[in-house]
Amino acid sequence: MKYIFVTGGVVSSLGKGLAAASIGTLLEHRGLTTLMQKFDPYLNVDPGTMSPFQHGEVYVLDDGAETDLDLGHYERFTSGVLSRMNNLTSGQVFDSVIKKERRGEFLGKTVQFIPHVTDEIKLRMHKVTEDNPNTDVLITEIGGTVGDMEGLLFIEALRQFALEVGKENVCFIHVTLLPYIKAAGEVKTKPTQQSVAKLRELGIQPDIVICRTEADLDEDNRKKIAMFCNVERKNVVAFRDVAHTIYECPLDLRRDKIDRLVVDKLGLGHTPSPALEDWERFVQRVIHPKHKVTIAVAGKYIELQDAYKSIYESLIHAGAHHDTKVQIIRVEAEAIEDRGAKEVIGDVDGILVPGGFGDRGIEGKVLAAKYARESNIPYFGICLGMQIATIEFARNVCGLKDANSTEFDKATKYPVICLQEEQKGIEDMGATMRLGSSESILFTGTKAADLYGNVDRIHERHRHRYEFNSDYQDRLQEAGLVISSVSAEEGLVEIVELPDHPFYVGAQFHPEFQSKPNHPHPLFAGFVAAALEKSSNA
Ligand code: GLN
Repeated sequence: MKYIFVTGGVVSSLGKGLAAASIGTLLEHRGLTTLMQKFDPYLNVDPGTMSPFQHGEVYVLDDGAETDLDLGHYERFTSGVLSRMNNLTSGQVFDSVIKKERRGEFLGKTVQFIPHVTDEIKLRMHKVTEDNPNTDVLITEIGGTVGDMEGLLFIEALRQFALEVGKENVCFIHVTLLPYIKAAGEVKTKPTQQSVAKLRELGIQPDIVICRTEADLDEDNRKKIAMFCNVERKNVVAFRDVAHTIYECPLDLRRDKIDRLVVDKLGLGHTPSPALEDWERFVQRVIHPKHKVTIAVAGKYIELQDAYKSIYESLIHAGAHHDTKVQIIRVEAEAIEDRGAKEVIGDVDGILVPGGFGDRGIEGKVLAAKYARESNIPYFGICLGMQIATIEFARNVCGLKDANSTEFDKATKYPVICLQEEQKGIEDMGATMRLGSSESILFTGTKAADLYGNVDRIHERHRHRYEFNSDYQDRLQEAGLVISSVSAEEGLVEIVELPDHPFYVGAQFHPEFQSKPNHPHPLFAGFVAAALEKSSNA
């Protein structure tokens, strides 16, 4: 196996994850099998317990691992299926070292950062290598910024690892920022020089420097960076701000032939240069849509771009599939409580209520669902959004006044959403929800089955604690709610829909974790199609 390590310098939010994912895309298109992973230096065992305000979306994998949102980029940009082995945090590393110490596995030695903690990180590298014998290139992104105290142990472990597996098998890529000083009209290379100097102080000489720039990178600056950073001129790669969509990133990085540089450095021979037609076609459809729809997303982390990352990406995928630009209107659910759904949401082609926890904004989301149902506006509820649709239907169609989820009202008379028995005694917050992929049965004749292409089984990823309460199933069904899918094992309700409505679908799982640029998720594709239908009839 060959290894690429991607570090970042100067500032965070550089697009390091996208750079890493784009390299994955380009190598895959060269016919190489890639696997991507992320090392996160924070002390949380996983981001599952972090607020979206802190960390953006929690991305869930098939095996139920709650991971960094960069893993979402990896799965959307490459075809490798990731597992909990592909996101390592300092929290996991220390947890494991301390458990070993308690078990006496260090045989009385003083347990130290080096070698014991760095060994633990290398152990993970070796384990992933062993578990994936068919992978050609393992791409590892290191979170944070070089120079942060937190990241030091990871950097040191990688230095040692490269020595052990042979430097010819390892390619270090450093992503930095070239700030543009407007007043001087100049691009500055000094922060990049200093950031690479810092990395070299830690024993790592980058093979390639990726320079994030607003403008183009001129020859003088390329030469200057090459000289000061001790890399070859051709290995200074520009990574420009993309004009329209993040899916342009691989195309941009290809301009400086990053994939060729990597392949040469790793001695991967003469793999054909990437045919990216499918990817380019997708990008063209995103950039030049024929139609446009507006979709309101009513949530509580609305001001934060990253909180619903995968949902926004899934809407782009589904939009491109229909040659449609999806204009997203972000609606703060609490504002609906104050001013009413029609006033706040207005005339849109679709309403989406995403996942969420806690009771802030809940009543606003119920009003959004009611507005969608009554006004024949396509509605797509995801996880909490499905629970909201159920609550709204119970209250306003079934007449179960004040029906609620016990998450928001423990004493509710009609707990249409409640905890399953096995969730009741749980006190630990980390990794104790219903997590990961499971199988469900689809019922024929429903809209959902139609959208999925009439397969009878689907596999979708979950992340929730509360469930549709089966005690109310009959009453809700009698009133017209259609249950289109239940879990294969426990019979838990997975999808609800309304038949006499252009599109009114709620899914207990998270379809947004399985949508890809050229393979939009069927429910998203159906939702956007319904929105398009509405907008063209308007
Ligand atoms: N809070 C709800 C639950 O725990 C929904 C979770 C979600 O939307 N991810 O069931």
